[in-house]
Parts: sequence; C-alpha cells; structure tokens
Amino acid sequence: MPTHAAPRTILIIGAGVGGLSAGIRLAKLGYRVQILEAREAGGGLASGMQVGGFSFDAGPYILLDKPGLDWAFQQLGIPSESLKLKPIAAVYHVLHEDGGTTAFDHSLTDTAARFESDYPGSGPRYRALVERTFAIHQHLKPFTFKSQPNVWDVLRTGSLRYVPFLLSSLDSVLKSSGLPLPLRKGISIWTHVAGQPVAQAPSPMAFVPGLFHHVGAYYPEGGMRAIAALLEAEALAAGVHIRYGTKVVAIRTANKAVTGVETAGGEFLPAEAIISNSSGIGTYAELVENFPPTTKATLAQLPLQSPGVCVYLAVQGCRPPYYIRFKLNGTGCTAFVQPGLLEPSLAQNGWYPARLIAPLGHATAAALGPEGQQQLMDELLADPWWQEGLAGYRVLHKRTTFEWGRDYTLYHDSMNPVMTARFMIKGRIAHRSPWVRGLYLAGSSTHPGQWVSFCAISGVLAANCLAQDFPAHA
Ligand SMILES: Cc1cc2nc3c(=O)[nH]c(=O)nc-3n(C[C@H](O)[C@H](O)[C@H](O)COP(=O)(O)OP(=O)(O)OC[C@H]3O[C@@H](n4cnc5c(N)ncnc54)[C@H](O)[C@@H]3O)c2cc1C
Repeated sequence: MPTHAAPRTILIIGAGVGGLSAGIRLAKLGYRVQILEAREAGGGLASGMQVGGFSFDAGPYILLDKPGLDWAFQQLGIPSESLKLKPIAAVYHVLHEDGGTTAFDHSLTDTAARFESDYPGSGPRYRALVERTFAIHQHLKPFTFKSQPNVWDVLRTGSLRYVPFLLSSLDSVLKSSGLPLPLRKGISIWTHVAGQPVAQAPSPMAFVPGLFHHVGAYYPEGGMRAIAALLEAEALAAGVHIRYGTKVVAIRTANKAVTGVETAGGEFLPAEAIISNSSGIGTYAELVENFPPTTKATLAQLPLQSPGVCVYLAVQGCRPPYYIRFKLNGTGCTAFVQPGLLEPSLAQNGWYPARLIAPLGHATAAALGPEGQQQLMDELLADPWWQEGLAGYRVLHKRTTFEWGRDYTLYHDSMNPVMTARFMIKGRIAHRSPWVRGLYLAGSSTHPGQWVSFCAISGVLAANCLAQDFPAHA
C-alpha cells in the first residue's frame, strides 16, 4: 500500500453504540471517519439523561452479555478495565399473576435450592437446563463474532448437532426441561421485555440464565450509559469527527452503489462507503434512494419491536435485594428497576432514581396512541406492587413510544425488528448490504437481539466488512 495515499473518508449515520463502535474500528484501521448524528449527543438509546436533578439511563439497565462486550472492546483496542463493572448478586424477582413469586440470583446454588424447596425435583432440572444451554452458548459463541456464518462454519466447528436446538423456540426448550410453569415463566421473562410471545421467541433466549449464573449480570459504575459515554470518548480520541444535530434524510445512489448522503439541511456529502446505524429497515425503507419497491415492501413487513413506555421516578428509599422486579400481567410485564441498590451514591437526601418500564407490542403501542399510553403509565403508577417498602415517590418524566421515536430518531417508533425464531432462521439484516454496494449496517437490527453488547459487536463486524471491500487508503 503506498504510504502517501490519502485515507479514505467514511460516513457513518448515527452515533449509537453500533455507529460509535464502527467509527472507532475504522479510525484505528486508518480511515478518516465522520459520524452524522441527528441528536445533540451520542449514545442513542444507550445514552444517559438528567431529569429532576437525577442521572438516569434512558433505555438499557443491565449487561447480560459481558463476554460479547469484552470481545467488542478487545477488537476496538479498549482495555476492559476502562469500564468498572459491578456484578449483580440479586438479579431479578418475578411476581406472578396469582401472587406467587420466582427469584433469580447470580448464585446457581441458591436459586436452584429455592426452586427445589418450592417445587420438589425442580432444583436438579433447573441446574441441568442451565448447564445444557450454557454449554451450547459456549460452543456457538464464536458465531456471534462472525458477520454471516455459513454452512461450512457450522460443519467445521461441529455445530451441526445444535441445529435442532437453534430451530426450536424458547418455549419448546423450556418445556423439554420438565420445569413447572411458574419457573418457565420466570426464565422466559426476557421475551416479555422484548415484547414477544414465548412461543415465537428464539431458543438462544434460553442462554440468559447460564449467562447470569456462570458469567454474571452486571451494572457498570455510572450506569449502562457509561458504556456509550466510553465509546463516544474513545471515538473522539481516535480522531472520529462527530457532527451532532445533523440528520441524514437520504442515501444517494448511482448504479446500485452509494454516492453520498443528503442532510436535512439540504447538504450533499459524498462518500464511496457508508455505515448506517439508523434502523436497518428504516435505512432501506426511507433513506436509500432508488431502492427496489418489492424488497422495500418485504422488509417493511417485518414485525417491529417497540421501546415501550418508561416512567422516570425519584423514590424515597430502595427495596432490597432485587435490582429488577417484574410483575407479570398475562400477556406482558412491567419492570421496576432500582439502580440505587447498586450505586448508593445516586441518592439525594434519601431519594433515589428508579424506573417503571412497560414493554409494549408495536401494534398495541400504536393502537393506544399518546393518550392511551399516558393512561397506561398512570395505571402502572397507581398499582401498589412496586411501591412496597418505599416511603414515597415523585414522577420526574414519562416517555411514550412516540417520544422515544421523536427523541431518538427511531423508525416508526421502533428499536429493531422483533427477533423471532423465524427471523433468526431466515437470516437477519446483513452487515454488508446485498443490494447496495458501499452500504453497511450496524446496530440492533443486524444482530440476534437488541442488547448493547450485540450493537457494539455489530459495529465491529460492519466496519470489518467495509474494510474488506474498501482498503483504508484509496
Ligand atoms: C427501555 C429500553 C430498555 C433496554 N434495556 C436493555 C438492557 O437492559 N440491556 C441491553 O443490553 N440493552 C437494552 N436495551 C437495548 C439497547 O439500548 C439498544 O439495542 C441499543 O442501545 C441500540 O443501539 P444501536 O446502535 O442499534 O442504535 P440507537 O441507540 O438507536 O442509535 C442510533 C443513533 O443513530 C441516530 N440516527 C438514526 N437515524 C439517523 C439519521 N437519519 N440521521 C442521523 N442520525 C440518525 C439516532 O439519533 C441514534 O443516536 C434497551 C432499550 C430500551 C429502549
């Protein structure tokens, strides 16, 4: 490579976890990188916010996939010690519709012993499920770090025997464990969080207990927002230029290849290669010009995942020991999240920040409308279950799905396509566009789940695809 050649300029749309990770990777590979971010700050859904004098995570609250984030950090040259992670001992508690409860601790021994005492025979069954699914997770983990694993990868790594598992749903994996329904409902709570029915949820959702028992569930010092803040600082330090307040309204193309982007201000910025951290579906449906209408229509039919509604609270006191308390309500759940239990320094005169989060199906959210969602939040607040043990509360802010959409530049007020078993089998939205040369995608639409760690991994993988196709120096 001639050393005097100019570095190639790459445009990235969006400074969420996916866009920032892609930016750092490319900058460290020698590209000149500019991120165009619609908001006035980076981090997207994983950023923080200040309200009523308290600091909050806007969206995410728990790190369930430390190994995935470690991998991404290693690829980005970020020492893992840069993020101080607090292991969570008492992870979550579930209140069932009939008043029964199920609780999950980091300790597999304690959790299994409690299950055994509540439902004799369940302790060993739970252990067996955790060990089996964790072993599968460990075996399949390398696939998470590949952009498009193919049949050869499956054969070479001896993973063929896991295909039946991957083709099954979470529901069938849990049913085959022989565990009673309340425990299965407790384990599958994360599908409610993702707003999807357990029968449609992909089997890898069964990896979650193995992860928090064997690897641990974590809360970063400074909240989940510390991950996005660290990535933003690393991007700037690596020379990435972030242009805030710059919304991209079109990706221009010629002969099925990108030529640049147009901003809301009417400016055209040329580029041979672009990474979009905007919604995967939205990128094709709304940004790429001259995109085939039939493919656009197929993508637009994918079910969308809603961010749900969120109430940001100041509460007097904390309710130990569980960091997250869920209440099941038949078709869904509400989560009460208490970061003050893990970070007591967040307190101000005995008041702590806390959140009530209710996942909503995308269609339900749309049907409720802004007023219906406000009413839903009022009903959640009036329900006494989450207030037990607290001396009082103040509502600091309420966020409907429409406000998530507006404030975080979301496509149709959604985070990503719902990761159903069917969607995983059919293939996800590719990091390298199969339709437009020079277009790459990073973010939650491109990976098997919506976790922050997956978004960071996706940024690395999208950047790697781009680097294969467009060397750093033109
Ligand atoms: C309530 C809630 C709870 C969650 N809980 C967890 C959790 O506990 N653990 C976990 O790991 N994950 C959780 N998540 C998911 C996680 O926060 C997201 O999946 C992740 O942050 C998404 O990152 P991203 O890079 O895909 O995109 P985003 O965060 O959506 O960032 C995309 C960025 O691109 C910008 N952008 C979009 N379009 C344009 C455009 N046209 N022009 C310019 N800029 C544009 C946006 O403004 C945004 O800054 C939660 C999310 C929510 C909402």
